[in-house]
Amino acid sequence: MYPYGTPDPHDRAPDGPLSSPLFRATTSASPDAETVRALGVRERHDEFYSRYGHPNARAFESSIAALEGAEGAVSFASGMAAMHAVLCGLVSQGERVLIAEQVYGGTVGLATADLPRFGIEVEWFDAFDPRALHAALSRPARLCVVETPVNPTLRVVDLQAVAAACREAGTTTLVDATFAPPPVQRSLDHGVDLVLHSATKFLGGHSDVLAGVVAGPHRLLRPIEAFRARSGGILAPDSAWLLCRSAATLALRLAAQQESAAAVAAQLLSAAEAGDAPIDAVHYPFLVGHPDAVVARRQMAGGGALCSFEVRGGLDAAIRMFDRLRLVARAPSLGGVESLASLPAHSTHASLTPEERAARGIAPGLVRISVGLEGADRIVADLLQALGPA
Ligand code: PLP
Repeated sequence: MYPYGTPDPHDRAPDGPLSSPLFRATTSASPDAETVRALGVRERHDEFYSRYGHPNARAFESSIAALEGAEGAVSFASGMAAMHAVLCGLVSQGERVLIAEQVYGGTVGLATADLPRFGIEVEWFDAFDPRALHAALSRPARLCVVETPVNPTLRVVDLQAVAAACREAGTTTLVDATFAPPPVQRSLDHGVDLVLHSATKFLGGHSDVLAGVVAGPHRLLRPIEAFRARSGGILAPDSAWLLCRSAATLALRLAAQQESAAAVAAQLLSAAEAGDAPIDAVHYPFLVGHPDAVVARRQMAGGGALCSFEVRGGLDAAIRMFDRLRLVARAPSLGGVESLASLPAHSTHASLTPEERAARGIAPGLVRISVGLEGADRIVADLLQALGPA
């Protein structure tokens, strides 16, 4: 079924190499002029030039399509290349795009600095105010973009509600599900049309690949893939090979990281409630008291592998704690096997004013942890020593 790599180790030929070959060739020879013509006019879809597709990208795309339960997938050199291709492949000059205020800063940058220059109107809406989306849909919109779980508050957007409202209005839906890939969240099962991942994160899982992917029905992927061929943002063979390698351990990594994240969140909350740690709040989708707990439990198979907490004393106290970490690395990415800490006020949300951060629920002392494979007890011990007295 998957000729060059497989998400299921049992789904392969009984003989032959156990890992997939790496095809670095940028071009393939053809036997005659008729074959060249048929390839050139896309009557035939064999490999002939790697910007249009290559075996390693196709193997990764097959594995993602299978994981998401999608007809297909299209892979890119980064998550932002994927977002760019969805926006430019599906939306034309004069059309509107609705984008949730709670999306990754790179998406905000693309939507504010670039889309308006090409005559695409962007309207922002609060993903946690159902009236806001309905109001935005009162005028025709080509595409609606949401992200869930949301960075760094780990709020959970109700995909079924977004999909239903958009379907009624004839608007295509895209969810950036980078924070919760399958099996934690199978986004298409909840009615959205397309799902996007920065594969740099959990899908890669080892902080060594930059990649992006979009999955969904062929009718929507076709124009996105055509835009990729024109603009050149395809995933490189080496990266695709690494991603297929990572796919084999995705479910295991995610299960272990998620279990640790749930334990880290619960232990931090206990320490805060017992007065043993200067923490004002802990955010994790499956934690009791989470504002979207009901949606999270319907939509996600677990709370994911990220949690965040508010250090009492604001930004200065959070910086002090951050600088004292010994095990957890100070780094902006997420989803790898190493635990990483980030300070949203100094990184992803640094360009916002304190008031804008407050409006998005980002407290001055908020710290986000991407939980790796070191074990919950070691991670909690590091966080508590960093929060403790000098
Ligand atoms: N979407 C989300 C939610 C992200 O966190 C990121 C990167 O941090 C991206 C998209 C962009 O992905 P990339 O860095 O692979 O371009």
